[in-house]
Amino acid sequence: MAKIQKLSKEQILELFHRIIDCIKSQKRGYFVLKKLKGVHGWCEWEDGIILDYRKDLIPTIIHECIHLLEPTWSESQVAYS
Ligand SMILES: [Zn+2]
Repeated sequence: MAKIQKLSKEQILELFHRIIDCIKSQKRGYFVLKKLKGVHGWCEWEDGIILDYRKDLIPTIIHECIHLLEPTWSESQVAYS
């Protein structure tokens, strides 16, 4: 299992701005709200991000956008970030 990399404050800020740009650049329809089982959200890469509207949307959208921006990161690295 890949070691989790601790991010510096600067790296977190840089990632945060990339997440904001990523969310803003998606066309309408990219984010889909559905009832999901077992997960809060799901990243379908360029096809869209599915979010369970019954869960916290903001942390979930940030989490799924990190998957999109850093596809090589493990689930634990994304969750930790
Ligand atoms: Zn994830």
